[in-house]
Amino acid sequence: SSLPADSNLTNTSRSVEHAAYSFVTPTPTKYSKIICCNNELAKKLGFSEEALTSTDFTDLISGNNLDANLQPYAMNYGGHQFGQWAGQLGDGRAINLGQYLVKEHKDRNEYVTLQLKGSGQTPYSRRADGMAVLRSSIREYLCSEAMYHLGIPTTRALTLTLTGEEVIRDKLYDGRAAYEPCAIVSRVSPSFLRFGSIQLPASRGDLDLLKQTLEYSITHDYPELIPESGVIDKSVYLQWFTEVCERTAHLIVEWMRVGFVHGVLNTDNMSLIGETIDFGPYGWIDNFDLDWTPNTSDAGEKRYRFGQQGYIGQWNLFQLANAIYPLVDEAEPLQDIITSYTRIYQGKWLGMMRNKLGIKVEQSQENEALIESDLLLSKELEQLLSRVNTDMTLFYRLLANLSSQLDIQNKDLLITHFSECFYNMEEVTEDYLSILIEWLIKYQSRLLLTPISDEDRKVNMDKVNPCYILRNFQVQEAIELAEKGDYSRVSVLSELLTTPYTQQEKYKQFEVKRPDWATNKFGCSALSCSS
Ligand code: AMP
Ligand code: MG
Ligand code: MG
Repeated sequence: SSLPADSNLTNTSRSVEHAAYSFVTPTPTKYSKIICCNNELAKKLGFSEEALTSTDFTDLISGNNLDANLQPYAMNYGGHQFGQWAGQLGDGRAINLGQYLVKEHKDRNEYVTLQLKGSGQTPYSRRADGMAVLRSSIREYLCSEAMYHLGIPTTRALTLTLTGEEVIRDKLYDGRAAYEPCAIVSRVSPSFLRFGSIQLPASRGDLDLLKQTLEYSITHDYPELIPESGVIDKSVYLQWFTEVCERTAHLIVEWMRVGFVHGVLNTDNMSLIGETIDFGPYGWIDNFDLDWTPNTSDAGEKRYRFGQQGYIGQWNLFQLANAIYPLVDEAEPLQDIITSYTRIYQGKWLGMMRNKLGIKVEQSQENEALIESDLLLSKELEQLLSRVNTDMTLFYRLLANLSSQLDIQNKDLLITHFSECFYNMEEVTEDYLSILIEWLIKYQSRLLLTPISDEDRKVNMDKVNPCYILRNFQVQEAIELAEKGDYSRVSVLSELLTTPYTQQEKYKQFEVKRPDWATNKFGCSALSCSS
C-alpha cells in the first residue's frame, strides 16, 4: 500500500483559498504497531473484537488503507495564537478519514469523524513534518479518555500506534537532541470544526465560504436550531452563537472543576461544539494555583493560566463574533450575547462549586443573597487553597470525608484529617489553621441551611470530585516506561481513569500528591508548545 516509486504525489504547503479542506493522502508508515486500542469506543463504531486484530484495522488506523472509497482530507482553518491573528494554520498533521454512523434516528442520524493525528504532511504543515512523537501521542490518548470518563466534553481516542518513524523535537537526552519515536493517534469527534474554521474565510473576506461553513456547522451539529420552515436566517446564526457561548462556558467550568489547564487556548484549538480538543502542553493542577500554566512557551505572560481560562473563553468568543459579524450585520445582538457570557459562566461556576462542596440548594431557597454568600464562600476557599501549597484533588476528597461530629476547633484533629493534602507542613502554621477553621465554621453553618447527612454529602461530593486525575508526573512516568518498550503503565492508567470517581485499593499508589522529585522535572510540571 505504499506509493508507486515514480510517484510525484506531494502535499506541498500552501495557502489554500476558497476551500474548507484539501484532499490528502496519509503518509504510509514504516510499520504499524498498535499499543493502545479503546475497545469500548471501537465497539460503538461497529468493530467486532475479531476485526480489531485484523490487518485491515491496523492499516486503517495507521493511514495505510488507501481504499478508493475513502477520500481523506485535512481541514483548513486560521486562528489567533497567543492573542495575535496568525492567518492560515489548518490541519498540519491531522487527516480525516471518513465518518461512522453511531446512532440511527428517525429524522437525523448521528455520525462521528475518524481522524488520524501524526499521519504526515498536508498542505497546512507549513515548515513542520506532520508527525507526532510517542510521548505527545500517549499524552493525548490518556488525557482525552480521562476527560471523557470524568464526564467532560472531549474528542476521543480510538488507537495509539507506533509507526517506526523517528524525528527530533525539543527534548534533550543527556544534554543532546536525539531522535524520538513517532506514533499516530486515531481520534473521533462529531465535529473537528474550530473557531478558526469560521475565522479564516471571514479574515479573507470570503463571505460565500464563511456562510457555507457556518451553515454546515448549524446543519450538522446544531440541527435543533433550524426552524420548521428550514430557512436559516440571521436569527438562527445568533442562536447558534448563543449556543456556542453556552457550551464554551460549560466546558471551561468543567475544566475548573477537575483542575485541568489546557495550556494553548488559541482560537484554532477551540471546538465549535464545545469539546476539549488539542492535547498539547496541557497540565493538571496538583497544588491549587490559579496562576499556574503548564506551557513553557507561555511562561512570561501566562495568558493561558488556570485561573484565566474562563476569561480567555470570552476573548475567543469575541473573535468568533467578529468573524460572523458580516453575516449578522448588526453589532448589538452579538455584543449582548458576548456580555451575557460573563453571567452564564459565573452561574455555572457557582453551580459547580456548590456541587464540589456538597451544598444543596432548594428552589425555594435560591435568592440573590444566597448566591452572593455562596460565591463568597467559594472565593474564600480558593484563597485558602492558594495560601499554602494544597493539593486540590486530595483536598476535596478529604473535605467530603469530614464528619460534622469532628471538633474542627481542635487544630491537632484538623491537621490529622487534612495532612495528606499539604505539600509542606511547615506552611501549616497556627495562623493558617485559624483561617482554615474560620472557613470550615462558615462552611458547616452553610450546610445546615439545607441539612444533609454526612453520608449523603460524601456520596454527592465524590461524584464530582475525582479521586484520580491524570497527574503530570504520572503520565510522564508512563511515557518514560513506554519509551523503553514497556506499555504496562499506559494500560494501567487508561484502565484506572475509566472510573475516576471510584476509590480502589489496588490503585492506592495513584491517589497521591506530586512527589518532590517531580516538582521541576521535564514533563512532570511543564512542557513547550512543540511537544
Ligand atoms: P497547535 O499548537 O498544536 O494547535 O498547532 C498549531 C498549528 O501547527 C496547527 O496548524 C497544527 O496542525 C500545526 N502543527 C503542529 N505540529 C505540527 C507538526 N509536527 N507538523 C505539521 N504541523 C504541525
Ligand atoms: Mg491545534
Ligand atoms: Mg496540538
